[in-house]
Amino acid sequence: MGHRAVFLDRDGTINEEVGYVNHIERFTLLPRAGQAIRFLNQHGFKAVVVTNQSGVARGYFPESLVELVHQKMKDLLRKEEAYLDGIYYCPHHPDIGTPPYRQKCRCRKPATGLVEEAVRDLNLDCSKSYVIGDRGADIEFAQRIGARSILVLTGYGKGEWEYFRGQWKAKPDHVALDLYESVEWILRQEDERLKVVSHK
Ligand SMILES: [Mg+2]
Ligand SMILES: [Zn+2]
Repeated sequence: MGHRAVFLDRDGTINEEVGYVNHIERFTLLPRAGQAIRFLNQHGFKAVVVTNQSGVARGYFPESLVELVHQKMKDLLRKEEAYLDGIYYCPHHPDIGTPPYRQKCRCRKPATGLVEEAVRDLNLDCSKSYVIGDRGADIEFAQRIGARSILVLTGYGKGEWEYFRGQWKAKPDHVALDLYESVEWILRQEDERLKVVSHK
């Protein structure tokens, strides 16, 4: 049996959306993000970051910066007694930059390549899992992998929800103020599910 996971978008969901994190100093956690991820850790969810970093393909920053930023993210979370079970990123763009970063890859969300890798590495069950993100692409991505989805109103979320939801290919199962409220909602869903199971 596979593990339950929560697939977390990075920019605008865990950390402040600044356009592109093109310097380590531009990476700051959003309020309550550490606490939210700690709750996932404590409740048996694998916490897995899945992020598009096309700034690499666009030539805005080197791929080595992505690694540095992820180390900083892990360090900041550790201070809040939270951890990530995996971090997966796509450095590509289909038509900007030069190969190998310019390519029609299978890993840029809403494509599912990164999650397929995570499922193999961590033995995950997407049908018991959730996606949290701030963009329509995150919601479409959730539908493609067969997970439930939550849109956060941090980052691009509020604008995406207000102006673009009519064009989305999929609807979120829930809309939450931030990552913390998303996790609270997920834990409530799980409580309900357990009640239903125990009454059978
Ligand atoms: Mg985002
Ligand atoms: Zn890719």
